[in-house]
Amino acid sequence: AHEGILRRQALRESAARTYARSLPIVPVRARGMTIEGADGRRYLDCLSGAGTLALGHNHPVVLEAVRKVIDSGAPLHVLDLATPVKDAFTTELFSTLPREFADNARIQFCGPAGTDAVEAAFKLVRAASGRSELLAFTGAYHGMTAGALAASGGATDVRVTRLPFPHSYRCPFGEGGERGADIAARWTEYLLDDPKGGVPAPAAMILEPVQGEGGVNPAPDGWMRRMREITRERSIALIADEVQTGVGRTGAFWAVEHSGIVPDVMVLSKAIGGSLPLAVIVYRSELDLWQPGAHAGTFRGNQLAMAAGAATLAYVRENRLAERAGTLGARMLARLQALSADHPSIGDVRGRGLMIGIELVDPEAGPPTVTAENGSAPPPDPALAAAVQQECLHRGLIVELGGRHGAVVRLLPPLTLTDEQATAVVDRLADALRAAER
Ligand code: PMP
Repeated sequence: AHEGILRRQALRESAARTYARSLPIVPVRARGMTIEGADGRRYLDCLSGAGTLALGHNHPVVLEAVRKVIDSGAPLHVLDLATPVKDAFTTELFSTLPREFADNARIQFCGPAGTDAVEAAFKLVRAASGRSELLAFTGAYHGMTAGALAASGGATDVRVTRLPFPHSYRCPFGEGGERGADIAARWTEYLLDDPKGGVPAPAAMILEPVQGEGGVNPAPDGWMRRMREITRERSIALIADEVQTGVGRTGAFWAVEHSGIVPDVMVLSKAIGGSLPLAVIVYRSELDLWQPGAHAGTFRGNQLAMAAGAATLAYVRENRLAERAGTLGARMLARLQALSADHPSIGDVRGRGLMIGIELVDPEAGPPTVTAENGSAPPPDPALAAAVQQECLHRGLIVELGGRHGAVVRLLPPLTLTDEQATAVVDRLADALRAAER
């Protein structure tokens, strides 16, 4: 059955969905961090639905919340009507948001995916400012619909100005750390203020506090505060895309808390739906200047997702899972960094909380030269990263790849993973790396 299912999927599904087929798993059962395949094999899942499953697979509180709605006879789908389920979700969500932000914020439920919420954010800031240009960053990922895609790294769009994102490793300025971040911030100011620079007054700046798909690049807190100052001084709305970083993942409930900044708009999805599709924007009420009906979407009333999401948010809050993600993530990061002493192919280990990236490089590919593409680091090694991913799979571990070159092994385990599971993840990854390097 296992092979047959894989074959039929390969035949029918578009080749665009390559990663689904490069992982030859047919999941039939899952609980917590463990996925069981049709062939009876079990895996530790460090992909977690691309960071969606804060509580892992099928957490009892999520299942219970969903069952409760189904058994209550409440409608499952109501577009944008007010319901007790929606009210409970919104109340729970607002209780987790930074006070200063939540006290003066409104919410818009969007279509089911993160990318829908990004589009809503863009429409909102454009309507509120009367401007259409946007600022976005190198290496960003905001989604696959036209607007979100245009603001993602690598895309070009006349209405989006791309600014440098600070990198501690592979810094385009050959500096890294605080100095690299300082140069990136000054470059941003220069572009915005140079009358001949060609950057029209933008409606907003959109940023990820930790770039996920871009290769797990944490933004330094000081740089985040600089971006807040720069945007505030110039009346540019600041949109924090917390689709991947939210709900405890980085060691704070929301990643903006690390720097203490208050954004104008927060884009939220993935974990807020507790495994089911849900996406919202929360925004400063003064921005609420768009027309009624300006942003619609048939599936913005998914009651099951709201119930699952409310249960997830409450569980993360009550059990202080953000703190747990912070301490456990730091421990995993330290172990992985120690590993790099014996493995020159580990170029960099970085992350925040349980959002961890291991960038693999080819240390023998000649002396590193400082280029905008490489910084001062050795060239990335995507082939090794792909081999490590396969070797992980043989050892019962699912990891994701990312980064501009696909050479970053990404770990996004559920926040509920045990100490033993965290140890097993690093052990298996270390074994996989040894096998792939041979
Ligand atoms: N923003 C960020 C930061 C993301 O990581 C993602 C998804 N990886 C998105 C937006 C888009 O979300 P979706 O895939 O649900 O459209």
